[in-house]
Amino acid sequence: MPAKRKSSSRNSAPELLFGDLWEFDPAPESAAPNLKDTYSLFIGGKEVAPRSRNYFESVNPATEKALTRIPAAGKADIGAAFTAAESGYQNYWSKLSGKERGKYLYRIARLLQDRSREFAVAESLDGGKPIKESRDFDLPMAAAHFFYYAGWADKLEYALPGASTTPYGVVGQIIPWNFPLLMLAWKIAPALAAGNCVVIKPAETTSITALKFAEILQEAELPPGVVNIVSGAGATGQLIVDHPAAKKIAFTGSTAVGKAIMRSTAGTGKGLTLELGGKAANIVFDDAPIDQAVEGVVNGIFFNQGHVCCAGSRLLVQESIAKAFVQKLKARIATLRVGDPLDKNTDIGAINSKGQLDKITELVASGVSEGAELFQSKCSLPKQGYFFRPSLFQGVTQSHRIAREEIFGPVLSILTFRTVGEAIEKANNTAYGLSAGVWTDKGSKILKMSTALKAGVVWANTYNKFDPTSPFGGYKESGFGREGGKQGVADYLKINA
Ligand code: NAD
Repeated sequence: MPAKRKSSSRNSAPELLFGDLWEFDPAPESAAPNLKDTYSLFIGGKEVAPRSRNYFESVNPATEKALTRIPAAGKADIGAAFTAAESGYQNYWSKLSGKERGKYLYRIARLLQDRSREFAVAESLDGGKPIKESRDFDLPMAAAHFFYYAGWADKLEYALPGASTTPYGVVGQIIPWNFPLLMLAWKIAPALAAGNCVVIKPAETTSITALKFAEILQEAELPPGVVNIVSGAGATGQLIVDHPAAKKIAFTGSTAVGKAIMRSTAGTGKGLTLELGGKAANIVFDDAPIDQAVEGVVNGIFFNQGHVCCAGSRLLVQESIAKAFVQKLKARIATLRVGDPLDKNTDIGAINSKGQLDKITELVASGVSEGAELFQSKCSLPKQGYFFRPSLFQGVTQSHRIAREEIFGPVLSILTFRTVGEAIEKANNTAYGLSAGVWTDKGSKILKMSTALKAGVVWANTYNKFDPTSPFGGYKESGFGREGGKQGVADYLKINA
């Protein structure tokens, strides 16, 4: 509906009235996702039906309708995948020079770019994220990781200078549902560049782009067994972790499952890297550029519906500006458009699954019952699908569950501070240590904060900035090991004694 015009004096332009009268026309993405009715496992370079004969449905969280059938790999399938990976390593991958391995990675990157529109639509359909994010962030970043690590494949001696290294051989990789294809790229690209073959499992609610990725690998004519893609739930993941041929496990997911995997691999001699949860502080000082900081806070918590391990889910705002800042923040939140993930105007898409929606709802209820003050956008929500209003809590204390636990949804907890020391103490008062943000006009304060904050990544006057050259990973219960940069490839190499 067009905005109404108010008549004004004869010589001036009519004034546009926004507010409730102003609506965006739908702008649906038109590219076809080219989904199959039923997907196969990808083992030894071939698409194969699961020996388990078990399948489950992948559901579109915006419509609650099934999109396709996904195979649930069982013990025999995982055994076949590791046999294929060992063969891929011995017969092909270990025999290629770094330069030749790099060529395959470049080819995969280019093919992914060629089909990025199609993959972006599939990602948004399956996971619920807005098309503008899958199109402008997930897909370009996934391709960028393959391009970047292609460059490392023939330069491994510079990843750990002076050390003699070998690849692990066969690596088991398990990824979560929040950035399905991007997490796959973070895992596969450095592992292959370092000379390993992989068995990888996507998360059960978002397996489609991983299984579609098998088409890219076939187009790239990657030798058989170098990458094997097996879908299934936690039990399938456990079979990967326990398989004796997996010489290293690379896991991204929740801290609880990460701890269980650490127990399973203890004493086995397997390598392990864990990329786990977070509860990041986004800290705004009174000398910050306020409007930019409001945008940064919004991006920090509402990007990908807040399904982000490094989401700035705890806003620490200096007391002297807190009232004005929160007022601006509320006004900005009220403008966010929640709805169809495939609409190019959508800011916040669907919550990934019914289970995740229930978890967010339960944690928000705990915030209310523990005494925090809830503010939610009044935006209209689609009648069907899993959606949650962008929300913030004021009056939050350190002991509230919403200040301590990862909500993994579009919910911000606001705390205040008076001094730099108090900001550092509150920011670090968490079991996690993945990321943090600092907003201030003072360079010296940025340097002090970035040293004092116990977080793998500290962004200054920006948030959620990623680049394949930059290592990402956590401290404390956010895990260990790094993805991205030379550290990312070094984590797939063993140092020879
Ligand atoms: P999750 O731990 O429930 O599942 C992650 C993956 O592990 C899935 O593929 C799942 O099937 C598998 N899995 C479950 N149980 C398993 C078991 N016993 N053995 C082996 N595999 C098992 O996590 P999730 O809910 O899918 O993802 C959200 C979590 O991931 C959040 O905590 C988030 O912070 C974290 N995450 C971290 C990063 C990072 O880089 N640090 C990035 C993205 C997400």
